[in-house]
Amino acid sequence: MDLNYTPEQQTFRQEIRAWLKAHVPSQPLESFDATRAGFEAHRAWERTLAEGRWGMVTWPESYGGRGLDLIQWLIFEEEYYRSGAPLRVNQNGIFLLGPTLMEYGTPEQKARFLSAMASGDEIWAQAWSEPQAGSDLAAVRATATRDGDNYVLKGHKIWSSRAAFADWAFGLFRTDPASERHKGLSLIFFRLDAPGVKVQPIPQIDGETGFAELFLDGVTVPVFNRLGGEGEGWKICMATAGFERGLMLRSPARFQVTARKLVELYKAHEDEVEPSVRNAVLQCWMDAEAYALSIYSTASRLIAGGHIGAEASTNKIFWSEMDIAMHKTALSILGARAELLRSAPEAGDIGRWLDGYFFSLAGPIYAGTNEIQRNIIAERMLGLPRA
Ligand SMILES: Cc1cc2nc3c(=O)[nH]c(=O)nc-3n(C[C@H](O)[C@H](O)[C@H](O)COP(=O)(O)OP(=O)(O)OC[C@H]3O[C@@H](n4cnc5c(N)ncnc54)[C@H](O)[C@@H]3O)c2cc1C
Repeated sequence: MDLNYTPEQQTFRQEIRAWLKAHVPSQPLESFDATRAGFEAHRAWERTLAEGRWGMVTWPESYGGRGLDLIQWLIFEEEYYRSGAPLRVNQNGIFLLGPTLMEYGTPEQKARFLSAMASGDEIWAQAWSEPQAGSDLAAVRATATRDGDNYVLKGHKIWSSRAAFADWAFGLFRTDPASERHKGLSLIFFRLDAPGVKVQPIPQIDGETGFAELFLDGVTVPVFNRLGGEGEGWKICMATAGFERGLMLRSPARFQVTARKLVELYKAHEDEVEPSVRNAVLQCWMDAEAYALSIYSTASRLIAGGHIGAEASTNKIFWSEMDIAMHKTALSILGARAELLRSAPEAGDIGRWLDGYFFSLAGPIYAGTNEIQRNIIAERMLGLPRA
């Protein structure tokens, strides 16, 4: 195994670093979950990225990408997070639906949706969960009833991230009314401003509108909006979940940057904290580096034609628990100062640690809870009997 970057990879790193230096906004953008203005500012940033053909570097050039491999994507992500560039408002589209469309979409669907996704012209939400179908996603009740060349959607979706301001959602619907569990489901796209869609924002623990409830009452969409065959929804959703947990949604760079900031925070307060905090900081830093190396190994395997499988669940548990540990350690260094309001004159950058801590608490829940990931590991990787 060669752990050195090739000259081409190093040149690529310099190229993206220079572009980001010239283009990343000098001031942080307003959160995309707080207001429509913040959301639109992030959409404008997506357009800027797309103009530089940096929207999704692994995608083919014909869909706005650069046709690069996963190692180059990891390098892109490292430079992206290092530069402090805005978070990606279209992550549901580019990281989850995009790769799924690439695998299961017809040429016409790819042509219709991928470029508009890469450019941020169409921003996506994921509409899978329902009040009675979260961990047990196969309990989905929302229906899509065939009516000629259309489907008519009915049902209640919840916890749909970005849906308060997004343009489109990809949802899981029961297309066979007589079906049960994993059978008879289909993945169908609908516009969030279509007649019959009611979007009800839900405030998060930090007060921002992270997600929304969706009430669908007779929403008509063309059959063209179904991804894959009728009844193939479960298989396709599981492919998307693999991208979500395994590689795409949370690249190691995000955590490496947090770990570096944690080390800086520790150094600035070294004299004020208990000696045991030093070990916690070191553990966080080592975990972030170990996670990065593990993902480089996975990426190399995928490039060589391998698959990700149930190991995606181990990654998901690792990054979500590491994220909490890093933020908890930061709060233990800051003590009572961590609770300063962002607006307080002495707050400086402190508020980001508390915000980050709140968000990290959701990590073991979204993308499938960690309990469910442990079930998957027990059954599929360790071969233990079903609980
Ligand atoms: C920040 C955030 C963003 C989200 N974004 C989206 C989104 O964009 N789109 C979307 O569709 N959904 C989204 N979700 C929803 C998320 O996928 C669900 O919350 C999650 O799958 C859990 O479902 P639930 O909330 O219904 O909890 P439940 O399924 O009711 O689970 C409750 C508890 O019971 C445990 N449990 C349940 N079944 C088992 C079992 N068999 N074995 C062991 N333990 C079990 C769970 O682990 C959990 O601790 C988001 C959630 C969060 C927190």
